[in-house]
Amino acid sequence: MTDALRIPRRVRHELRFRTLTVASVQDLTPAYRRIVLEGPDLAGFVSLGFDDHVKIFPVAEGQAPVLPTVGPDGPVFPEPRPVARDYTPRAYDAAANRLTLDFVVGHGGPATEWAMAARPGAVLGLGGPRGSFIVPTAFADHVLIGDETALPAIARRLEELPAGVRAHVVVEVADAAATLDLPSVAEVAVTWAVRDGGPRGRAEPLLSVVETALAQVDRSDAYVWIAAESAVAKALRARVLDLGFSPKAMKAAGYWRQGGAGAHEVIKD
Ligand SMILES: Cc1cc2nc3c(=O)[nH]c(=O)nc-3n(C[C@H](O)[C@H](O)[C@H](O)COP(=O)(O)OP(=O)(O)OC[C@H]3O[C@@H](n4cnc5c(N)ncnc54)[C@H](O)[C@@H]3O)c2cc1C
Repeated sequence: MTDALRIPRRVRHELRFRTLTVASVQDLTPAYRRIVLEGPDLAGFVSLGFDDHVKIFPVAEGQAPVLPTVGPDGPVFPEPRPVARDYTPRAYDAAANRLTLDFVVGHGGPATEWAMAARPGAVLGLGGPRGSFIVPTAFADHVLIGDETALPAIARRLEELPAGVRAHVVVEVADAAATLDLPSVAEVAVTWAVRDGGPRGRAEPLLSVVETALAQVDRSDAYVWIAAESAVAKALRARVLDLGFSPKAMKAAGYWRQGGAGAHEVIKD
């Protein structure tokens, strides 16, 4: 197998904004609400990477989303600029034309509040994905580390990995009731970092288990993906580098920021 098979690539997609309708709402655990969206606007939806994101434009019940338009230089935002938040396309069923998003609940914020109020028939504005970052599946070992906001991407990655590779998953959750089944044909080892009553957004639960969870992983042929609260993701990336993993086969992102709204941070050196 050559290194070319291990080089991630970026693919751009035509930017589109869509108005979708809620088809169903389901509480997966006390921490997650799954919302399936549908509508003719979904036609042509493309998401090629497990950590793609769409922008959602939540509005109060009964209101129609006021969406950006697409100009020659990219999106043109209406004033006042609508609230937008990033979410992972957990699944897209092209045949049924349905898109699944999984919302972490339990904190305040326009996206979470929209999800808590959503009923079948409610509308949601959505933009993107503008692009996909495609990490090859050829690595022998796939390390996936994150908090609840990362779990939709991690669960999707596990569904997409082929048989014959190994995945090492380390996920922070509140307690045992918040764990999820993570189906995969790959060989998967999951470590749940349980907060047990502690607050979200602290590094300790993940940092305290990561070294043991990754003890057996072959550093020479592994890709590491990390997403969590920004400061936590930074601390995790530093720890994983200390453990001997290569920064060249690693992606780390802040998916939210303690005390900040709608944060997305790509973490580098
Ligand atoms: C690329 C990407 C993909 C993402 N995918 C998902 C996804 O699939 N599912 C998902 O649930 N989230 C996902 N997130 C995270 C989500 O965008 C943020 O949690 C977002 O801030 C939620 O918006 P909000 O309107 O609920 O809260 P905001 O208005 O952004 O924040 C309100 C307050 O809540 C706090 N807060 C925000 N998120 C959390 C949290 N998770 N736990 C505790 N406190 C929080 C903030 O610090 C702030 O104090 C993703 C983020 C990125 C960047």
